[in-house]
Amino acid sequence: MVVELISVGTEILLGNIVNTNAAYLSQQCALLGLSLYYQTSVGDNEKRLEETLKTALGRSDIVILSGGLGPTQDDLTKEVAARVMGRRLVEDPHSRQRIEEYFQGSSMKKITENNWKQAMVPEGCIVVDNQNGTAPGIILEGEGKSVILLPGPPNELKPMFEHDIYPYLNAMRPEVICSVMVKMCGVGESAVETEIKDLIDAQTNPTIAPYAKTGEVHLRVTASAKDEKEARKLIKPVVKELRSRFGDHIYTLDEHVTLEESVIAMLRERELTLTTAESVTGGMLSARLTNVPGASDVFKQGLVTYCNRAKRKLLDVKKTTLKDYGAVSEKTAREMAKNGAFITGSDICVSLTGLAGPGTDEDKPVGLVYIACSYNGNVKVQEFHLKGERAKIRESAVVKALTMLREYILEEVR
Ligand code: ATP
Ligand code: MG
Repeated sequence: MVVELISVGTEILLGNIVNTNAAYLSQQCALLGLSLYYQTSVGDNEKRLEETLKTALGRSDIVILSGGLGPTQDDLTKEVAARVMGRRLVEDPHSRQRIEEYFQGSSMKKITENNWKQAMVPEGCIVVDNQNGTAPGIILEGEGKSVILLPGPPNELKPMFEHDIYPYLNAMRPEVICSVMVKMCGVGESAVETEIKDLIDAQTNPTIAPYAKTGEVHLRVTASAKDEKEARKLIKPVVKELRSRFGDHIYTLDEHVTLEESVIAMLRERELTLTTAESVTGGMLSARLTNVPGASDVFKQGLVTYCNRAKRKLLDVKKTTLKDYGAVSEKTAREMAKNGAFITGSDICVSLTGLAGPGTDEDKPVGLVYIACSYNGNVKVQEFHLKGERAKIRESAVVKALTMLREYILEEVR
């Protein structure tokens, strides 16, 4: 089934408002598995709106219009839609009563003659109550098509869509859709795209859509079928194929599980405890880990050792190491991790030291980050050259640390 959006309002064309309704409605249609090929913005102009709606009806099954349902002269969506669908406007007693009640409930607002215009609806339409305003939503069905009119203000449109329109569209779909989110870390977005190009090129049902997140790649695999069981059956071999291509880079198939949650779960399964020793990220890694409920089972301590003195005092990093190699060095990261585990009595310690910029007084580039993991006295250190501004570098460093920790557990502990 093909759906199309029309956003009505000269304000949108002038750039005075951002078309967030279109973004919201497009996302909802994608969730419903409806195909959306066109969306148009058109001003408050009768002739152009009529043309736009006729064009949309010529190529789509469902047309959703937002805006222009208000009481003023320039609000003409309903009038145009009724004319295009060959309906008269008649008064809807239920809507009239709701408008009356709406104004009774508000001492600030006074009812004016043009408010009654909002009780006029195309004959034979489905009227959808507006819980947050006076303009009702309208569904017009005819000749195998549906035209859905929604109020422009997002605080009216969204609840109405969720409450009434989503179920309406869902019931119209002949098929159900199911999806699985394959979440990966430790592999770049372009590497993933290249690796699955053949699958993307050949895809019909299920489809594979990549979503990039800082340091991670998520692939949504979506199938439609007559029922959920059938859709899951279609998804299974695709996920199996992705597993064979990406192996341990995949950390979950659960949309709601985050990277830090998966790391905490791995530590818990293996009864391992963790300490973090952070410089460049100033506690961001421990903040992400402790965001996970139950993190206290495995997370012992987070040390923020920002200056050299703190690295020396709290983590026993050698004075000569800091002097000869600098705070941002492989050797400092190594000592931070090794000593951090020893001093706090944790099984594992992850350390981070780096330069987030923008300025640097060292002879080292901005974005240089060393991350170390220690377990049982063994230490592994990796050097990274992270891109972006300060905030991005710090965020990326945290994801790299979580990814490295995960890989380290899989390699060293299993
Ligand atoms: P009203 O009864 O408020 O006149 P309406 O249904 O006639 O509602 P419009 O007049 O088109 O809607 O828009 C009213 C307000 O809703 C706009 O000023 C804007 O703040 C918001 N709005 C309208 N369309 C959009 C859109 N596409 N995206 C985001 N906001 C919008
Ligand atoms: Mg208006």
